[in-house]
Amino acid sequence: MEFNKVVRGAKRAIYDEAVVYEILDAGFVCHLAFQHQGQTMIIPTAYGRDGDVLYLHGSTKNFMLNQILDGQTICISVMHLDGLVLARSLFDTGVNYRSVTLHGTATLVTDEAERIHGLRRFTEQTIPGRWDEVPAGNDTQLKATMVVKFIIDRASCKVRTGGPAGDEALTNEVWSGVLPLSMRAAEPVADDKFGATYNVSKSVLEFMAKH
Ligand SMILES: Cc1cc2nc3c(=O)[nH]c(=O)nc-3n(C[C@H](O)[C@H](O)[C@H](O)COP(=O)(O)OP(=O)(O)OC[C@H]3O[C@@H](n4cnc5c(N)ncnc54)[C@H](O)[C@@H]3O)c2cc1C
Repeated sequence: MEFNKVVRGAKRAIYDEAVVYEILDAGFVCHLAFQHQGQTMIIPTAYGRDGDVLYLHGSTKNFMLNQILDGQTICISVMHLDGLVLARSLFDTGVNYRSVTLHGTATLVTDEAERIHGLRRFTEQTIPGRWDEVPAGNDTQLKATMVVKFIIDRASCKVRTGGPAGDEALTNEVWSGVLPLSMRAAEPVADDKFGATYNVSKSVLEFMAKH
């Protein structure tokens, strides 16, 4: 992958593939921007990373996925909000975050083994271990599913950490600092349509332990 130059707030830019991968692997939802008949569109979707590839999936009738197969350069954004940085002035107030912006193109995965690999990566990225606990789907469902491969061509990465800065000279006496934010799993809610009580799956327990 190549890197796009960050201009504003350049001190927060990180030009390191490993950090790009780390940010992508810390989540599984992206926002994907594309063009349709001169109109810019942006739609959230999930992904599974493998090297410089993000696997996407959806119905074979999925508008967005079909649209991005026309060879256009698409743009994907992934951002984790880590905290509110509350300074002694609003001017110096901001957020801690990890963010990547990716440019690249998408192709349809037609090889059956790679389709399954893509779906597995996708599932593993969302909830590791779930792939081994439930079937992916029956033949008809899998035929109705398209797997698309987005290859990262160019990337940029910005990260902000730490406390407020720039308000050192202010004398107003007010609390300032960081309010950390993160994604947290709450208590699992069992599907009551099956009536029986099952133990919560290992993959779910592990996800909860991590989040
Ligand atoms: C966290 C998350 C993860 C998702 N993961 C997947 C995934 O892995 N695979 C998948 O196929 N879909 C996923 N979706 C749903 C996805 O956002 C689309 O709704 C879906 O893919 C249908 O896309 P389409 O282009 O066929 O929609 P269409 O219904 O053809 O789009 C028509 C119009 O509907 C609007 N629209 C479509 N989707 C949304 C939306 N999410 N929010 C607001 N407006 C919308 C847009 O204005 C669009 O122009 C996910 C959604 C979320 C929030």
